[in-house]
Amino acid sequence: MAKTALITGVTGQDGAYLSELLLNKGYKVVGAERRTSTRNRQRLDELNISDDIVFTDFDLADQGNMERTLETHQPDEVYNLAAQSFVALSFEQPVMTGDITGLAVARLLEAIRTVNPKIRFYQASTSEMFGKVQAVPQDETTPFYPRSPYGVAKLYAHWITANYRESYGLLACSGILFNHESPLRGVEFVTRKITLAVARIKHGLQKELRLGNLDAKRDWGYAKEYVEGMYLMQQQETPSDYVLATGETHTVGEFVEAAFTAADLAWRDYVVIDPAFVRPAEVDLLLGNPGKAKRELKWAPKTAFRELVALMVEADLKRVDR
Ligand code: NDP
Ligand code: GDP
Repeated sequence: MAKTALITGVTGQDGAYLSELLLNKGYKVVGAERRTSTRNRQRLDELNISDDIVFTDFDLADQGNMERTLETHQPDEVYNLAAQSFVALSFEQPVMTGDITGLAVARLLEAIRTVNPKIRFYQASTSEMFGKVQAVPQDETTPFYPRSPYGVAKLYAHWITANYRESYGLLACSGILFNHESPLRGVEFVTRKITLAVARIKHGLQKELRLGNLDAKRDWGYAKEYVEGMYLMQQQETPSDYVLATGETHTVGEFVEAAFTAADLAWRDYVVIDPAFVRPAEVDLLLGNPGKAKRELKWAPKTAFRELVALMVEADLKRVDR
């Protein structure tokens, strides 16, 4: 019998790649999407998989809706990828972020506990929980120190997942994923903002690129590879938490330089520093150690930094050309 996976946040970057992966593995994929006034399935359409997904209306704000969704679809595995996922917005909307990114995970775990405690659960945890880092590199044992309402909300979600695993024996795990990017990344995140701007500048559609802090360092990997790690975590007999990262860190400035160079442009001619994009508190350095995932999941990142930048620039050049 084919397994059924329910993916919240199916319309997002990771939801799209994870759907593709699980469909290829023969899963029935139930795509839990929130209702908005306009449909938002571009990423799934881009991967040409919208017709293969069974969609269901779902909102992280609504407990009853969660329980009915689980009752109706009886999933074997739930991947909770939905969230208010943008750090900068979380400073503007901290309460909504706390509810949707944090507390909602307790709602979902409660629903699983009520409907069927055998359902396997994956929580999308984040390196933003390390924030003002207490050790370099960061792994599963590094103490947390979040630096944004987003990081704080995700930390609640992380611990409530561990708590339901320990209290009720739920098969719940968290992937502590470092930044992962792709041509499907949201345009408000710095990597995609840069690669799209490079493509538009190259085609004469934009004159400058306004950015905030170029000194922040991130451990950037390729999203398509990170969803494989999520799947592998759900296949472990005993659920546990895992860091997924590349083990390399680069500044935003290096990303800028690599992206402009990939399109034969000189970044200094176009980049303008704009304080509007500087955050009230910054995460200066993220560098992950994926050793546990390598050992136990046999997972390893393959795409190197410059390769990732180049493939994102190339995809945006093609898009803008079209
Ligand atoms: P995206 O921002 O691309 O996707 C977020 C998804 O959540 C969208 O499908 C969005 O729906 C959905 N969503 C938001 N609010 C609600 C709601 N109230 N009810 C139901 N669905 C909702 O994120 P990514 O794919 O990049 O990331 C996936 C997860 O992993 C997120 O939880 C993120 O915080 C986390 N993460 C991401 C990292 C990264 O580098 N990408 C790093 C570490 C963790 P809609 O399309 O309607 O907006
Ligand atoms: P985050 O790591 O989840 O916050 O991912 P982002 O892609 O949003 O930001 C990565 C880093 O880029 C952060 O340190 C930001 O402060 C920095 N940054 C600099 N300029 C910008 C910008 O214009 N937009 C965004 N999103 N980030 C920026």
